[in-house]
Amino acid sequence: MEVSAVEGLMQDYELSLQHVLWRIERLHQKKEVVTKWDDGVHRTTYGEMVPRINRLAGALKRIGVKPGDRVATLAWNNDRHLELYYAVPCMGAVLHTLNLRLFPQHLEFIINDAEDKVLFVDQSILPLLKPLLGKIPSIKTMVLMAEGPAPALDGFPEMEDYETLLAAESDDYPWPKISERMAAAMCYTSGTTGNPKGVVYSHRSQFIHTMGVLQGDNLGVTENDAILPVVPMFHANSWGLPYAIGMAGAKVVFAGRFSADPKSIVELSEQEDVTFLAGVPTVWIGLANYLKESGKRLPKVSTVVCGGSAVPQALMETMDSLGLRILHAWGMTETSPLGSVARVYGGHTPEEALRLRLTQGRVAPGVEIRITDPATGEELPWDGVAFGEIQVRGPWIARGYHNGYDPDKLTEDGWFRTGDVARIDADGYIQIVDRTKDVIKSGGEWISSVELENAVMAHPKIMEAAVIGLPHPKWDERPVVYAVVRPEFKGQVTEEEVREFLKGKVAKWWLPDEVRFIDEVPKTSVGKFDKKVLRAGATPIKEGVTQEARK
Ligand code: ADP
Repeated sequence: MEVSAVEGLMQDYELSLQHVLWRIERLHQKKEVVTKWDDGVHRTTYGEMVPRINRLAGALKRIGVKPGDRVATLAWNNDRHLELYYAVPCMGAVLHTLNLRLFPQHLEFIINDAEDKVLFVDQSILPLLKPLLGKIPSIKTMVLMAEGPAPALDGFPEMEDYETLLAAESDDYPWPKISERMAAAMCYTSGTTGNPKGVVYSHRSQFIHTMGVLQGDNLGVTENDAILPVVPMFHANSWGLPYAIGMAGAKVVFAGRFSADPKSIVELSEQEDVTFLAGVPTVWIGLANYLKESGKRLPKVSTVVCGGSAVPQALMETMDSLGLRILHAWGMTETSPLGSVARVYGGHTPEEALRLRLTQGRVAPGVEIRITDPATGEELPWDGVAFGEIQVRGPWIARGYHNGYDPDKLTEDGWFRTGDVARIDADGYIQIVDRTKDVIKSGGEWISSVELENAVMAHPKIMEAAVIGLPHPKWDERPVVYAVVRPEFKGQVTEEEVREFLKGKVAKWWLPDEVRFIDEVPKTSVGKFDKKVLRAGATPIKEGVTQEARK
C-alpha cells in the first residue's frame, strides 16, 4: 500500500535544553535548590539561579568558549554544578562532567580524548588536579569554584575565580538559536569493562529523555517532589535528574561532598522533606544499616530509585521493612541512562510483586528492546527462559562514541549492543542475567554471577558478596565467591555454611568452588563491585575443591 506523502502541519520546534531553562525562569522561580557545603546548608532558588546562569554563559563566551567546545567539570553535586548544567549547553557548548573518583591517569586520558577547553573545579577537588598539570594541553582556562574567599593556590597556574567571573557579566545573556541535533553534553562510560569511551548527548536526546524521566510509569518526577540525587552529577548525568527537576519544577537537595555519608543523607532528607532519592545499591546498603542502627526512619520518602547494578533481594526486603520503597531501574551511560523501570501494578500476589520489582522492569516508553543470540545474532523469544544480549534503539540511545571508538557497538540494522545478557518474559519484564564479560562459563554452560551473588547476599550474616569466574583446568571457569561478613558476625561464618545455605537455592553445579572472606568488596568509581580488581588479585582455585560442575 502506498503511504501518503502529505506532511503534518505542526511546528518544527527545536527540542533543546533552552526550553527547560525557560520553564525554570517562567514557572519555577520560587523552587528551592539546597546544598550541603562544609560550612553548612546553602539555600537558593531557581529564581536566584537564572541570572547567575545568564552571567555564567556570558563568562564562558568572554573566555573564548565557542559552540561545540567541551567544557569540563570536576565537581560534587551542588548548586554551581547545576548552573553549569544549564549555562554550558544552552550557550551552545558541550558540558563534560568528569568523574572525580577516577585515578589521575584516567582523567588525563579522558580530558585529552575529549579535548576539553575549559575546566571548572571545586576547591575541595583541587588536589586531584595536581598530578595532571602539564599533561592536559587542550585546557586553556581553569576556573576555581572556591568556598569562601579564593585561596592562595601554591603550585597551580593562573586560575579564574568562579564568582569573580560571574560578577563581571550581565543578568541577561542573548541565548543563541540552538539546533536540536547539536551536542549538549558528554559523559564517559565508567570503564567497568574496558577503557572509558565518550558518549555525546544531543539537545534533542536530552529533551526527550527528560520527558521520559517525568513520565508516571517511568521515574515519575513531579513538581511536588523534593529530590535528593545521591547519584553523582558525573555519573550518567545524575540519571537525568538535573534536567527533570528543572522541567518539572521540583525542589532539589544536594549532599555536596557528603553524598557517601548515610548520616548526612538521612539528616538532609529529614530537614528538607525529601520525597525522592536516587543512587546505586551500595549506597542503600549503607543507608539501611544506618537507619537500623540509629532507629531513624524517613516516612516522607516515597521513591528510592536504585540502579547501576542489580538490586539484591535482601536489600529490597530490608528497605521495605524500613518503609523505603525501592524502584529498580536499569540503564547505562549510552542510554542517557534510563532504559527500563520495574513498576508493578495490581493483580499480583505479594511474592510475585516482589519478584517483578526485583527484575529490571519493562523498557521505557520511547525505547525498543530485543534480546539476541550471541552466536547467531538471531532475535530470541520473550518467554522468560531464553537469554541473550540486550540490544536497544530509540531517540536517547547512543549511535556511536566520541572519536569513533568501538564502531561495532551498533548492529548493521541500527541497534545498540549493550553487553548485558537478559531474559525477557511474555509481559516484557527484563531479567538481567549478567554482563557478557562477567558471566561464568563452566563446562559449556553459563552461570550468572549476579544470581549467585544475590543468593549469597540473602544469607543473614553476609553483607556483600561478589562472584567471579576463575580459570579451571577441566571446566574452563568455576565460580568463586568473595564475601563480606556483617561486622557483628565477623569470624563466625564458614565456607561450608555458605555452601550449605546455597544448596537448593541454586543449581548444584553453580555451588561455588570457594568462598573467600574479605573486609570489603573493591568498588568502581561509581560504587559498583569492581570485578576487574578482584580478578587481578585472585589466587588460583585450590586443587580438588570442585565438587560437581555438570548440569
Ligand atoms: P559502566 O558500563 O562502565 O559500568 P555505566 O554506569 O554506564 O558504566 O553502567 C551500565 C551498566 O551497569 C549496564 O550495562 C549494566 O551492566 C549495569 N546495570 C545498570 N543498572 C543495572 C540494573 N538495574 N541491574 C543490573 N545491572 C545494571
